[in-house]
Order: sequence, then structure tokens, then C-alpha cells
Amino acid sequence: MNETSLKKKLSDLPLGGLRYFDSIGSTNDEALTWAKDGAPDLSLVIADEQTQGRGRLDRKWFTPKGTALAFSLILRPSAALRPHLSRTVGLAALSITDSLQTYKLDARIKWPNDILLDGRKMAGILVETTWSGDIPDSVVIGMGVNVMKASVPAEEYLQFPAISLEEVLGYAPVREELLHGILSALIARLPEMGSNNLIKAWDEKLSFRGEQVRVREGGGQVVSGELIGLASDGSLRLRDEHGNFVIVRFGDVSLRPSA
Ligand code: ADP
Repeated sequence: MNETSLKKKLSDLPLGGLRYFDSIGSTNDEALTWAKDGAPDLSLVIADEQTQGRGRLDRKWFTPKGTALAFSLILRPSAALRPHLSRTVGLAALSITDSLQTYKLDARIKWPNDILLDGRKMAGILVETTWSGDIPDSVVIGMGVNVMKASVPAEEYLQFPAISLEEVLGYAPVREELLHGILSALIARLPEMGSNNLIKAWDEKLSFRGEQVRVREGGGQVVSGELIGLASDGSLRLRDEHGNFVIVRFGDVSLRPSA
């Protein structure tokens, strides 16, 4: 992967700008700084390696050199889009599941931010927002996608099993092509951000529906129940052991199957 081949491959997309790095700490950090410096809508930061890739909170995301996709896309939300920003993670997740249809793969979404193949994590999403007072003036969508087998961390680093596209497909897709597919899918779905179609499509791709799950919330408390589906803002609905519906909001939540 290099800057020239990337620019050529992505030239038909309406990107606001592109910054490529052979190696970087975290593409989200670079994108957040660029956003504060006025990056235009749909600017892209991409790296061949991340040395400090981030998951949520202090968790790490591994991106060994030459093996994966690691990029961050900056959105400048219009006033019309701002009320729907809680759906951004769904938009991002769907852009990955949409693009994997090219490879005939039925990827699933582990709410809120992970993509599963064969029940194992093949991609993660980290959405971060920059604010001007109480107005969100940019949203950074970070994605890490395990393309080659060597992108998958050793088991001792994982709380949830991981997998790569190469392992599932028997070959590693060309990273530039995969990136093109994800970005075009995301751009194609942007107009749906304010519509229920996005929630419906996101809901249909959820993994663990009808199964018992536990969700650990930021404060440490654990909510258990049957996974029912999404509420209209993208929150998760569970039915607890008493038959009551419980809503789990975003934040630092980790969803796991109960068994
Ligand atoms: P959670 O699984 O609780 O939703 P995050 O979404 O914050 O966690 O993702 C960070 C976690 O993902 C890390 O703690 C690590 O266990 C795992 N991880 C890190 N790099 C990879 C990778 N390349 N592929 C799959 N899982 C990874």
C-alpha cells in the first residue's frame, strides 16, 4: 500500500482530503487533530501500521504492518444530521457488512461496535466526536479490519475470539479494494442517517438476536437478558428474566453471549 496507489484507487470517491502514513500511533488521533485544524468533510487518514491503535477506553487495537486496514474518516455533520449522530456507529458497521457482500460473506454486528465473521471479531469501530461548545462539529469514524492472518492478535491478548478475512476466504483481499468498498458503502448510506431504514438494516445484521447476553456497562453493572433488537436511536433492547424490556445505551458497554 502506498499513497499514489491509494489516491488512484479512491479517485472516484468524493473525499475531502487524504493523509497516508507508513506507520502512525493512531489514525483516530491524527484525524481528531486534523478535524480541529479544519479538515473538510470526508477527509481520510490511513496507515499501513498503527503502533498505538485504540479501542474504547484504554483498550488497544492491533494493526501490525502490512496486514490490515486501519483508517479514520472525518465527517462534518450538517445541522440536519446532528440529531442522529448516535447512529454513526451503525452506519460504520453497515458499511463493513455491506462491502463484505462482494465476497459473499454474511458478517454480523456485535452491538455496538464490532463486526463478526463466524462469531469471531474481524473488525472494530471507534467513533469519536469533536465539539464546539455543545455543537458536534466533527465525527471521526475509525475502523480496524483484519485482512491477513498475521493481523490477528495472539489469543492471550483477547477477551473475545478474533479472525481475519484471509482465514475465512482462503485468500486475503486486496486492501485498497476492500477500503474502496467500505468507503463507497458508507457514502451511499449517509443519506439514510436520519431515516428508519438505517436502523432497520442495522437491526437485521445484529448478532445474538433471541439469545441470552450480558452487557457490562461503564459503571461496572451487568445487564442480562434476551437480545431483542434496536431502539430508534440505536440503543439496544433486552428482555430481562422478569419479562421487562431494558434499554442499554451506548457508552462503554461490552456485550457477550451468556453461555
Ligand atoms: P470490546 O470487545 O469489549 O467491545 P473494544 O471494541 O474496545 O472491546 O475493542 C478492543 C479490544 O479488541 C481489545 O481489548 C482486544 O481484546 C481486542 N483486539 C485488539 N486488536 C484486535 C484485532 N486486530 N482483532 C480483533 N480483536 C482485537
